[in-house]
Amino acid sequence: MLLDFDPTDDQAGFKILEQLTSDAGRMQEEVLKEIVSQNANTEYLRDFDILLGHHHKQAFKTKVPIVSYEDIKPIIERIANGEPSHIISSQLITELLTSSGTSGGQPKLMPSTAQELNRKTFFYNLLIPVMNKYIAGLDKGKAMYLLFTKPEMTTPSGLKARPVLTSYYHSSHFKNRPFNPYNVYTSPDATILCSDSKQSMFCQLLCGLVNRHDVLRVGAVFASALLRAIKFLEDHHQEFINNIRSGHLSEWVTDPGCREVMASDALTRPDPDAAAAIEAECRSSSYSWEGIIKRLWPRTKYVEVIVTGSMAQYIPTLEFYCGGLPLVSTMYGSSECYFGINLRPLSKPKDVSYTLLPNMAYFEFIPVEKDHVILDGCGNNHHAHDDPVDRLATQTVDLVDVKIGRYYELVVTTYTGLYRYKVGDILKVTGFYNNAPEFQFVQRRNVVLSIDTDKTNEEDLLNAVARAKLIVEPLGFLLAEYTAYADTSSVPGHYVLFWELIQLVNFNHEKNGLGPGPVGRGFAIEASIMEKCCATIEESLDSVYRRCRKKDGSIGPLEIRVVGKGGFDALMDYCLSQGSSVNQYKTPRCIKSEEAIRILDSRIVGSFFSRDAPSWEPKFNYLNN
Ligand code: AMP
Repeated sequence: MLLDFDPTDDQAGFKILEQLTSDAGRMQEEVLKEIVSQNANTEYLRDFDILLGHHHKQAFKTKVPIVSYEDIKPIIERIANGEPSHIISSQLITELLTSSGTSGGQPKLMPSTAQELNRKTFFYNLLIPVMNKYIAGLDKGKAMYLLFTKPEMTTPSGLKARPVLTSYYHSSHFKNRPFNPYNVYTSPDATILCSDSKQSMFCQLLCGLVNRHDVLRVGAVFASALLRAIKFLEDHHQEFINNIRSGHLSEWVTDPGCREVMASDALTRPDPDAAAAIEAECRSSSYSWEGIIKRLWPRTKYVEVIVTGSMAQYIPTLEFYCGGLPLVSTMYGSSECYFGINLRPLSKPKDVSYTLLPNMAYFEFIPVEKDHVILDGCGNNHHAHDDPVDRLATQTVDLVDVKIGRYYELVVTTYTGLYRYKVGDILKVTGFYNNAPEFQFVQRRNVVLSIDTDKTNEEDLLNAVARAKLIVEPLGFLLAEYTAYADTSSVPGHYVLFWELIQLVNFNHEKNGLGPGPVGRGFAIEASIMEKCCATIEESLDSVYRRCRKKDGSIGPLEIRVVGKGGFDALMDYCLSQGSSVNQYKTPRCIKSEEAIRILDSRIVGSFFSRDAPSWEPKFNYLNN
């Protein structure tokens, strides 16, 4: 069900939005009918023998199981290995999208088709009338959106495997987008498509600075990327100024596409006046960068970045740089499909809700009991071990039947071959726009640490720590407790693990060839050993973490802070004082509360960082695992 309209025609856009949201129930029925009829003969659906007719929805819901990635991984592997698309999709699967969720250390792969790009374009086009409704004059200038592509992989059968945005920016839908006043970006396509992230960043920021009086909107997809750009600007501002003053691009930018487009579009002549004005802004207010976005790009009306979910941790820092500009989270989507848009874009970050568009996919919702998360008193959420979500797994609710105030886990049936697939996101219904519900993003199931697009869950962390502790055990140290948090106080942020080690008193160091033991000397592991632990944890984390850390530089070196004896008892006392139950207390594997972090920080006896970034190869070794 693809609808089309002219994105510069706000009225047409709103007419479609009204239609989609007023008629959401019927649209969803149509979408399911269309997906089932198109794919009834695929190997996957054939077995369920769903006859189209009055009761096909009921049949679909009772016969087709709700699945998670592990259930469909063998099918995806067959497609990656060259078996035909019609195992799951009547349309040709043209590529696999690498999700930031991982399975067995490798990115999850989501099927995609050529038609899906039309659906994404439709989705992006709908964002335009929504923004125009709230902010006037957006056609009178440019958008400085810092957009990046990531390295691609190829499956054994030659299919491309790449992140969803990389796929979109490489598509003709993006590259040959019809000109309209709302898609005039300061970044030439060549700078976005440059696969070297540093050269891409440098050129895009340089173009943004050169065009700074035309810029009406500043943005990146996620808050983490925009903060990284500001840090990059701060670190390199003198070089930017020199380039603008001389009209010459730094020699280290060697990408031919970037050099060509910078010479013809951005740095066409020396501009000492512009350079002096930028220099003055960078140096004003005693070099404080507070409000720098508003100062360098004075016509900016808002900053467009996703600040919901794990990105909420960046709101205070962004507010510092934005100088009072509104932060706008426009959309909620994933590699599986794009889900919804924010129809009240100027709402405060904590109030942002997304309206799922009923023509993107067939949506179902697994009710999650309100206390699906147990607050452990440390500002940290735990899932109940006796998971209510799974118990209610067959009782899904349709899009239009969800209830305000309730929590749900999202399940999608897409046009690209996913049937009743659990995305892993928990959403809360906050209201309705016509008959379409609005959802607040609550959390990704089971993710404990996230800095950029990485999503590390409790199990990943446990496995990584289990490998690292093997390094200290032969030295007479046992890991008694650990917890972690994402430290985003500096850019890039980094993972911090707190470790409490017990030193074995009777451990015979000399017998183990370690010389005289360190007993009685307090904490006595050599720094190089602890650094090795940091590096081992990084090597053990999944490929998205390692790519962000090694290739993108969007995650800093992992740190282990060793706390003295009793550090975790103090943490427990604090959690209990905040309402955790004594009987059920388990050390949280991730802490968020500032006070909990302060308690552990005040007991640090040593702090160590990983010295080398972990290995990361853009190689498709999915099937060898
Ligand atoms: P990926 O498949 O790697 O693109 O990641 C998609 C996931 O990112 C979603 O399932 C969400 O968990 C998260 N995500 C995407 N958009 C948003 C948003 N607007 N707010 C919060 N989380 C988001």
